[in-house]
Amino acid sequence: MPRTTANVAVGKRQLELSNLNKVLFPESQITKAELIEYYLKAAPTILRHIKGRPLSLVRYPDGIERTKFFQKNRPDWAPAWMEHISLGDTEKVDYVVAAEPASLVWLANLACIELHQMHGRAPHYDKPDYMAFDLDPPQGFPFPQVIAIALPLRELLESLGYHCFVKTTGGKGVHLLAPVEPQWSFDQVFEAAKQVARDFTAAHPQTTTLELRKAARGARVLVDIYRNRPYQTIVCPYSVRGRPRAPVSMPLSWEQLERTADPATFNLRTAVDRLNREGDPWEAMGSYATALHTEKRSPVRRAAAKKPSGQSARPLRAYAEKRSFDQTPEPRPKLAAEGNRQFVIHRHHSSRLHYDLRLERDGVLKSWAVPKGMPPRPGIKRLAVAVEDHPLSYVNFEGTIPEGQYGAGRMWVFARGKYELTKEKKDGFYFR
Ligand code: ATP
Ligand code: MN
Repeated sequence: MPRTTANVAVGKRQLELSNLNKVLFPESQITKAELIEYYLKAAPTILRHIKGRPLSLVRYPDGIERTKFFQKNRPDWAPAWMEHISLGDTEKVDYVVAAEPASLVWLANLACIELHQMHGRAPHYDKPDYMAFDLDPPQGFPFPQVIAIALPLRELLESLGYHCFVKTTGGKGVHLLAPVEPQWSFDQVFEAAKQVARDFTAAHPQTTTLELRKAARGARVLVDIYRNRPYQTIVCPYSVRGRPRAPVSMPLSWEQLERTADPATFNLRTAVDRLNREGDPWEAMGSYATALHTEKRSPVRRAAAKKPSGQSARPLRAYAEKRSFDQTPEPRPKLAAEGNRQFVIHRHHSSRLHYDLRLERDGVLKSWAVPKGMPPRPGIKRLAVAVEDHPLSYVNFEGTIPEGQYGAGRMWVFARGKYELTKEKKDGFYFR
């Protein structure tokens, strides 16, 4: 008999695991030990998606054929290192936040088979970072027909400027997620989702509906947008479901989705191998965040609405005045459309080798020279000297600025990505 309890170290945490031989999925004889092993192996990927998100847990203490319960409040015997966040308008709930592999192992040891996540994550729990569409087919609806609905919904979303990611639910349907900048309230995101779903169901009235009542849906697929509400959840990517065969809510590329006949082939016993082999199709999903299509404002109006802030009132004037565009390969000044918080760090070998940090704001790249080296790790401050705004297309600029031109020398892209505002003050802002 294998041991039924174990003391293990996961990262810097000591955990006491219990009842490891308990069978949670009788049909496929999957034990709690296997569930724990799954979550431990999938942890690096799962955590990238769920870090900072309040979680609801579905526990099956005696396996999936016995009582399950939704647990929202953090169990009061949770170890002190388990992160949590108290949220709620009237009644507060102290939600668990999984921050490290040990958190997932600890939850799996509670026979918490399913993890469900909120759409907002720290530090802006009230600003969703995606818009979700839950396609809910009626009983017995063939999966290929679900795919046949997901594909045109994706097309509609992409025609509106969104990027669209898909996962199986581990049940009958699929979830489509369109990452958005965490700048808008749940109401705004919900309204945008409603607009999309109304147009979509109007174009596909035979097969889709917004009707919540089961009787009124008939044989049509519900396009459920009501998840886009505060405190609502969807099952986390790579969460196991408490259903026969231990299916996993599996992120897929659109090509993989089209090849899927039976979503239960993605399950506790196959998902990790697949992940190792194919990678995570949702990797870096946050960097595809866009503006809500209902909230796009023209940069000209935005710039006009803003008071001139010390810099010249005409955007990019200082940039233009320093350069001759028939001599330098640098991009011409141009105010860009609605931004999505890109940043770039240039390594700039001019008279002295230094770095330039540029952050997208108000249709331009706010720029700083960093002459004394980059901070070696977060929390270390290094001098940054504000310089003139650069045009947004400068995020892609690499090349040699000729002798005699401003900033003459070579410029390379050292790092690129997206940043997040964490605090805004009268005289500046914080970001990461
Ligand atoms: P399926 O494809 O079978 O519909 P699903 O995960 O989408 O699987 P739904 O019943 O459509 O299941 O529910 C959508 C989401 O709503 C769930 O993933 C879950 O996060 C949330 N949810 C469902 N039931 C509850 C509940 N009783 N309490 C809290 N949240 C729930
Ligand atoms: Mn569903």
